Amino acid sequence: MQTLLVVGAGPKALAVAAKAHVLRKLGLPAPRVVVVEPHAVGGNWLPSGGWTDGRHRLGTSPEKDVGFPYHSTWARGRNREINEAMHAFSWTAFLVDQGGYAEWIDRGRPSPHHHVWAKYLQWVGHRIELEVVSGRVDSIAPAADGWLVSVLGEDGVRTQLDADELMITGPGRSTRALADHPKVLSISEFWELAGKRALPVSSRVAVIGGGETAGSALDELVCHDMLTVSVISPMATLYTRGESYFENSLYSDPGKWAGLNLEQRRDVIRRTDRGVFSVRVQESLLGDNRVHHLQGRVMRVTDRHEGVELTLRNPLRADQVHAFDLVVDATGGQPLWFLELFDADAADLLELSVGGPLTRARIEAAIGYDLAVSNLESKLYLPNLAALTQGPGFPNLSCLGELSDRVLRPVAGGSEVAARAAVSGVEPLRLGK
Ligand SMILES: Cc1cc2nc3c(=O)[nH]c(=O)nc-3n(C[C@H](O)[C@H](O)[C@H](O)COP(=O)(O)OP(=O)(O)OC[C@H]3O[C@@H](n4cnc5c(N)ncnc54)[C@H](O)[C@@H]3O)c2cc1C
Repeated sequence: MQTLLVVGAGPKALAVAAKAHVLRKLGLPAPRVVVVEPHAVGGNWLPSGGWTDGRHRLGTSPEKDVGFPYHSTWARGRNREINEAMHAFSWTAFLVDQGGYAEWIDRGRPSPHHHVWAKYLQWVGHRIELEVVSGRVDSIAPAADGWLVSVLGEDGVRTQLDADELMITGPGRSTRALADHPKVLSISEFWELAGKRALPVSSRVAVIGGGETAGSALDELVCHDMLTVSVISPMATLYTRGESYFENSLYSDPGKWAGLNLEQRRDVIRRTDRGVFSVRVQESLLGDNRVHHLQGRVMRVTDRHEGVELTLRNPLRADQVHAFDLVVDATGGQPLWFLELFDADAADLLELSVGGPLTRARIEAAIGYDLAVSNLESKLYLPNLAALTQGPGFPNLSCLGELSDRVLRPVAGGSEVAARAAVSGVEPLRLGK
């Protein structure tokens, strides 16, 4: 059986592993899915992952779960069975199993807190007996017939895993901050302090960024005694995410995406994804007159008495300097974070397949229908970079069932995707029931 190794046990890994489990149960071809994770299943939705304290709410509906939109396409004559079987791992099946379904309906289907979303992912993991290797992937090299992945365990022991196919997930580390200064916090430092109720008392706070990372941080900050909270982003204002049926449908059903030209696709992403806050976050900020927006890119951070000064640049104005007691770098993940794991040979291979030095634009343009980099012999799935070519829902939680469908679709002409090879060097751990 072929092995698909997934870096990170987040929603994407669970979606692919659950679908592979269902396919195998139905006697259909599917690879063995092995997931490497340093924290826990759903780690980035828990305080230990450094992206949240777990107590803030999911922006999307939890019904956009690991099977959504339950629309398998490639298994002619068997798609209905696949969709039905996937319902066993849905959000509502989780609630029914845990005894909270009626209450959730009666309370108006609220978005769950991040830690409950992690619990849901863990529940899926237990039910499918997810194979998890505990550790952090710290290097990736090409192998004769796939990828050689090095995993560093918490005990310092390094293990080599041999996989046919590789999928990278997640936003990378949350420990990066704009400057090395005690009053400039990375998002992981911010949540660590917030979790300990130890955020420094500050009157003027700045949050840099305009996405989900900044939204959750603002949600937290407005519960504290701050005089002003400035949200800094290069956009003209703080936009609300378009969340009508028309916008959402492009996320749930990427089939329409192919009919848009590049400019239209960029326009949709700009209005609905980059630098926009969800309606829920906007509503909680609107009513708070301490929160305002400062337009600009932060060009310089300078030490000033007890705080810092930020120099903001806008193309049509002179630079402006603003002073703050506390700054939170909430600019979010690094789309190309995984390249730091690639050894020189792996980077060379990738360069050859994308046709030049590794830039975000070049890699994005090379992502094919299966969400993998085109022209690479061994599959490298990069769903986080698939928005522009394949659909805006692939990097997030909008169409995890479609994502798994594309990744697990048997190659044309191949008798089955499932075939040879295995993860060698270690017997992957199985989650207990
Ligand atoms: C605060 C916050 C709120 C968000 N809310 C929403 C929302 O409501 N809706 C939405 O669609 N999107 C939301 N997002 C975006 C969200 O990150 C993605 O939609 C989604 O989680 C991505 O899933 P994933 O499986 O790619 O990664 P993640 O859930 O981020 O999982 C990645 C995993 O990789 C692990 N990992 C990291 N480095 C390594 C390594 N070297 N080796 C092995 N494992 C590693 C991490 O521990 C983590 O468990 C939010 C993001 C943030 C930060």
